[in-house]
Amino acid sequence: MKKTKIICTLSPASSSKQVIEKMFQAGMNGVRINTAYGNLTQYQSVIEMVREIADIPVIIDVKGPEIRIKASQRKVFNKGDILEVGFDGEEVCFNHDIYDQMVVDDEVYIDNGKIRTRVVEKKDRKLCLLALNSGSIEDGKGVNIPNKHLSVPTFPERDLEIIRFAKKYDIEYVALSFTRNAEDVKNLSQTNNFIGGIIAKIENSEGVQNVEEILEAASGLMVARGDLAVEIEPERVPLVQKALIKLCNQKGKLVVTATEMLESMINQPNPTRAEVSDVANAILDGSDAIMLSGETAVGQYPVDAVEMMTRIANETEKAVKSNVEDPPFINISDTVSRAIQRISQSMPIHKVIPLTRSGYTARMIARFKISQPIIAVTPEIKVKKQLELIFGVYPVMINYHDKKDRLLAVTNKLHEMHLVNDEETVLFTEGVRTAMEHASNSIEIHKIKELREFASSSELTTFW
Ligand code: PGA
Ligand code: MN
Repeated sequence: MKKTKIICTLSPASSSKQVIEKMFQAGMNGVRINTAYGNLTQYQSVIEMVREIADIPVIIDVKGPEIRIKASQRKVFNKGDILEVGFDGEEVCFNHDIYDQMVVDDEVYIDNGKIRTRVVEKKDRKLCLLALNSGSIEDGKGVNIPNKHLSVPTFPERDLEIIRFAKKYDIEYVALSFTRNAEDVKNLSQTNNFIGGIIAKIENSEGVQNVEEILEAASGLMVARGDLAVEIEPERVPLVQKALIKLCNQKGKLVVTATEMLESMINQPNPTRAEVSDVANAILDGSDAIMLSGETAVGQYPVDAVEMMTRIANETEKAVKSNVEDPPFINISDTVSRAIQRISQSMPIHKVIPLTRSGYTARMIARFKISQPIIAVTPEIKVKKQLELIFGVYPVMINYHDKKDRLLAVTNKLHEMHLVNDEETVLFTEGVRTAMEHASNSIEIHKIKELREFASSSELTTFW
């Protein structure tokens, strides 16, 4: 069973159910919809297709304070040309009004730094940009203005509409582009009381600086290397990636590494050697999930790209080790998860089975990258889907709510689903006789066979 999770970006316009199904079979564990493109009707149809295929999470990626180009048509230009870009519905314009904050000589990069320009003049509420290279501008492409703190609202009107939509469809995760601080994350959870997970995308120097407070407020992070490499120096990205992943692992929060992972597979059936190493290294760093963007959204080999990632994951994850350090006491679940890590190394245990309502306990155990599969049992369908992105976790929904003999009921159900067998020894953990948050306070180790035999014997009631 593959432990590393794979997220595929789907094109809102052209995804077919057949290809999504094939990608799922090849190892896809979650889907991202990039709202830089497409409309709500298209997102709805993607969500419906995915939900018909599998219980995997959908991530709706909102653009937040990201600055982008709006263009009524593709515009080709040459080096040395002056591009006039407005703010109010012109042929080529920005999505946020930053006119007053820009000055002559500011550098403006478009499309992940592929187009480099400089402001040479401001006139009639338009910026005149000198093209430093030739290229073309297309609708929806991202804009970077490195090292400039711009005051832009967290959400433009369109995002608010998308967040309402995400709530209506009970979407598992929203990813917030260009998260700058904890305030941005809180704005998202307060907007229509959005109740899904929030993945903060770290893609500029402000996000990197404020990552600790951002992580306190969010469910996890995405190392959004595409924009990050343009906003900070590209050579800084590898170490920033390691630091962000380690921080998330320490706190048991989701961490996704993204962008250009198998970029050449957009047009080629095989990746470069460097891409294969990059994917492997992201896994070794401790990523829960690795993400495909253009490879699956617009590429010619979407299924091959997922297969390739699965092959790299299967080979590499055997060597993944925990990078979690030993801090002073945090909470009961933290302590219990550390004990479980020790037990999993010191006796033959086949599976670790947390019973978890919020998913927290499963994540706390998973961060240690233990070799045993973690079968996370939860009564909540949404939690089940959210846990699908966590390294080494195989979530199952079982409604164990008010059953007195919970472990037995869960065991029988898992046995029925062929997720445990009579020969196995497993470790259960759950919060017993406590209403405290983050208090998985019990560990029970059982042979499945013995546990099930008790079920059929009359001793059961006295035993429990
Ligand atoms: P994007 O974010 O694909 O939405 O731009 C990821 C990144 O910048 O790496
Ligand atoms: Mn980005």
